[in-house]
Amino acid sequence: MTLAEPMVARTRGELAEGLAILRRERGTIGFVPTMGALHRGHLSLVERAKVLADSAVVSIFVNPTQFGAGEDLTRYPRDLAGDLAQLAPLDVKLVFAPEVSEMYPEGESLIQVTPGILGDRLCGRFRPGHFAGVLTVVAKLFGLFRPDWAVFGRKDLQQAVLIRRMVSDLELGVSIDVAPLVRESDGLAMSSRNRYLSPSERGEATVLFRALTAADDAFRRGATNPADIVSAAQEVLSREPGVRVQYLEVVEPDRLDPVDLAERGSIVALAVFAGETRLIDNLVLGASVPDPIFP
Ligand code: AMP
Repeated sequence: MTLAEPMVARTRGELAEGLAILRRERGTIGFVPTMGALHRGHLSLVERAKVLADSAVVSIFVNPTQFGAGEDLTRYPRDLAGDLAQLAPLDVKLVFAPEVSEMYPEGESLIQVTPGILGDRLCGRFRPGHFAGVLTVVAKLFGLFRPDWAVFGRKDLQQAVLIRRMVSDLELGVSIDVAPLVRESDGLAMSSRNRYLSPSERGEATVLFRALTAADDAFRRGATNPADIVSAAQEVLSREPGVRVQYLEVVEPDRLDPVDLAERGSIVALAVFAGETRLIDNLVLGASVPDPIFP
């Protein structure tokens, strides 16, 4: 029977019990950390975790320490019942959904994992403290879950790169998989934050993918100068006056250094505001397989 809803662990004790049972009865653990308000992007990570490990487990925790002042912590969408209903058909048996006080019983951790220079680029330039919050909570979750595998999405490119580095630099002993970026049928990258968009902003938001595609087209036509690739994207973005670009860059995939010459596998990444909503997206230049799209 695979349709039963997952068991929800609210405390670290319940989590430890659930994990012990899963390890005993099934074997290796594939872990998918999320902030909930799940969509098919998240579900694709669960599917991936099930391929990599004997069972997939999910955390749902809106981590306050990764939100900056004035960001959307209080209105971030929360829908545990809906999330559990989506996870049930995927045979997820255990979900960890702690309160903030369970994760941070003594308040915010005194010891923080900071991203170093890799945190100063792309999103890190505009969201001070964000990646320290992310890395610290992921390190704590790794300590609580002790997973064999953990799966992250390329949607959050810099996060995935930083977590890979954290695991290798700090010898955390978790295998990391970075899964493809899942898109809506019109190309918009799926995100829990898309539900903030008004109907007109939702229409404008397709410009991110259109701009990335223009950059990729330029590359496929032979452009290797990153300035030319960026300007192909910029040209598309400028035709959508409702959106404001925060950054738009061509970077290499391991450390996110800006490239001098773009090559196949270089990544064009951007952050854009549609109204008040900040959206991020990225595309691998010259990729042989397109990002998955759901109708
Ligand atoms: P979040 O709940 O937004 O913190 O995301 C949890 C995980 O899901 C992160 O590893 C994200 O990169 C991943 N994710 C979010 N949106 C997508 C998407 N559209 N495609 C693939 N992975 C995603």
